[in-house]
This record gives sequence, C-alpha cells and structure tokens, in this order.
Amino acid sequence: MVDLLGQYQKIKPQIDAAISEVIDNTAFIKGPAVKRFQEHLESYLNVKHVITCGNGTDALQLALMALDLQPGDEVITTSFTFIATAEVIALLKLTPVLVDVLPDTYNIDPDAVRKAVTPRTKAIIPVHLFGQTADMQQIMDIARKHNLFVVEDTAQALGADFAHPQTGEKQKAGTMGTIGCTSFFPSKNLGAFGDGGAVFTNDDLLAEKLRMLANHGMKVRYYHDHIGINSRLDTLQAAVLDVKLAHLDEYAAARQKAAAFYDRAFADCEKIITPATASFTAHVFHQYTVVLKDVDRKALMQFLAERGIASAVYYPVPLHLQKAYRSQRYGEGDFPVTEALSRSVMSLPIHTELTPEIQEVIAGAVLEFIHKNG
Ligand SMILES: *Cc1c(COP(=O)(O)O)cnc(C)c1O
Repeated sequence: MVDLLGQYQKIKPQIDAAISEVIDNTAFIKGPAVKRFQEHLESYLNVKHVITCGNGTDALQLALMALDLQPGDEVITTSFTFIATAEVIALLKLTPVLVDVLPDTYNIDPDAVRKAVTPRTKAIIPVHLFGQTADMQQIMDIARKHNLFVVEDTAQALGADFAHPQTGEKQKAGTMGTIGCTSFFPSKNLGAFGDGGAVFTNDDLLAEKLRMLANHGMKVRYYHDHIGINSRLDTLQAAVLDVKLAHLDEYAAARQKAAAFYDRAFADCEKIITPATASFTAHVFHQYTVVLKDVDRKALMQFLAERGIASAVYYPVPLHLQKAYRSQRYGEGDFPVTEALSRSVMSLPIHTELTPEIQEVIAGAVLEFIHKNG
C-alpha cells in the first residue's frame, strides 16, 4: 500500500545525516531535534503549540485527559474510524456516543452530531478520515452552541486545509478545535521510522497541561501535579520527521496526482464510486478509497493479490459492531451508512512514489476483473 523505501532513497543523504547527528550527540530523549521539529510544525500548521508524544493513540488520550472529563461524560465520535478514537474514550471511562457518517465523504455527519448532543455531552471528536477534513464549520458551531470541547483526530489528514465557506480563510486540519491530535506512524502522510504522535493547541494553559501530562504530570522534576503518562517522541524520530516535514506539501501533491489518475481511470465504470472531496477541504489522500457496487470485493482483492497488487479494507467492522465495543446501546442497523461502507469500500495503493505506469497496471487489473465478472 505504501513505498517507504522509495521515499527514503530520495532524501537518504539528509535523513542519514540527521540520524548520525543524533547518534553522535547521544541525546536520545528530549534532544534538540525534538524542539526544532515542534517549532517547525508549529509554523507549518500556524498553531501556537505542538507537543510531541509517543504515538497518535497517546495523543488522543492526552487530549481527553487534559480536558478534565468525568467518568460517564459523553464524547461524540464517528462509527467509521480506526479503533484508537473510541478506545481512548472507553479507557478513560467516558461514554463513546457514536454517530453515522456521510455517504460521499465518509466523514462524521454534522446533523447526526446535533441529534446526539445530550446534557452529558462534553466533547466531539471529528476524525478527518482518509485525508479530508470533516465539516469543521458545522462541528464548531455545534460545539459553541452547547459549550463542548472539540478534539480533532487528524492522524490521516496532517497538512490538509479547511477553507471557511464564508470567508475563504484557510486553516490546517487539527488547528480549529480545542486540541488537535496526529500520528507519525510510518505509513501516515508524515511518517517516522517508528512510532510518534503530537497534540496541537492554541490555548497556552492547555499546552502547559498537555506537556505535563505527557511527562508523568510533572513540570518540576519529581514534583507531580497531575496523574500523567510517559509518552514522548524520541530524538531520532524527531530528526527524521524534521527532514520529512519540509517535503510534506510535495508528498500531498504526489498523492493528489495519483488520486486524480485513479479518478480518471474509473470515471466510466459504474461499479466503482470514486471518493468525493467536500468543497471546503483540500484532500491529502492518506487513502484512496472507492465504494464498489455489486462487485465481489473478496474475489476482486484476491484477483489483485495474485497479480502482486495490494489492496485493503478500511474498515471492515464498524466500531459499534466490534466485539469489545458491543453494548446494549447499539446494534446492527443503527448506522446504515457506516455499515454499508464497511461492506463495500476498498482502498488501493496510494503513496508518494506511484508512477502512471504502476497505476495503469493497478487500475487495469481492477477494471479487468470487473469487466470479466459482469
Ligand atoms: C493511525 C490512527 C490513529 C492512531 O495512531 P497511532 O500512532 O497508530 O497510535 C488514530 N486515529 C486514526 C484515525 C488513525 O488513522
């Protein structure tokens, strides 16, 4: 699904130099590259504070911990996302309240969010799924009206722009809510050579608290003001990420170009619904995910695999139907859009190293299967 080696080879001298520098300094934890990367990401995102941490799941957990929510408080999020989003809500003994997504963008449905708000609701976690932002204007309007926190999960959309529909003013995904969270998992749009994550905020007090929470709840060493966790981005990862950050826009452009190629290749095929991009967002295509209509997905994926072509299903089981998350609250049929997507989506390889020749082969194989099988 990705070509991390090809991407590395193009910037090998810079990456290798950055890694060597860290090794030579042996400042493996909290070395200068961590601060440098945080500052560079702050200016890239135009946000006041970036606080790095161990991974994207920790970022979400830290965000919710910083908001001082109480057990039983309700947090609204989407039923169509990676498990981490709901996992941290449940781990903190908060109540995940799931809502359905929109059929065209697969992102959280603002009307469904509106209907799900109760007096116990404290926060909304919109996920900017597959690389495009949720409708942040509507989400922020709902949050303002009901005095809710917004934690943006931008693990898949780092670098994506949201353009305010009225003013046209652009903001980066993850910088509009109370706190933004991202992941630097190797296959994400800005990927480390291991695990990594970060939280963003424009709120000075929250930033201070997030820094402490990620560091055992302490500001002064061995004086613990909060019950925190130990979650940090190590210096080697920060050095790698700092080199790659300079290429993030170029990486997004390569992904957009690859997506446009697939769009054209599948334009005349009625059985493939290509991904729609909402008018207010620039899609950075963490995934290129199509909806298959009356196609045997399993057989198609098998056909592709036999030709050495990767494909994947994100996500085969909606959150409310996962074994660990089944509850009295939800059952089959509650989120029809999510359930239909789970049965019919398929993601194709999309990354920074795709060439038209490779894409021709991938798209050709998909279309060949569909033509052969009616
Ligand atoms: C990857 C991902 C996460 C978690 O990130 P990790 O770094 O793997 O912990 C959270 N939310 C979404 C939507 C993701 O895609």
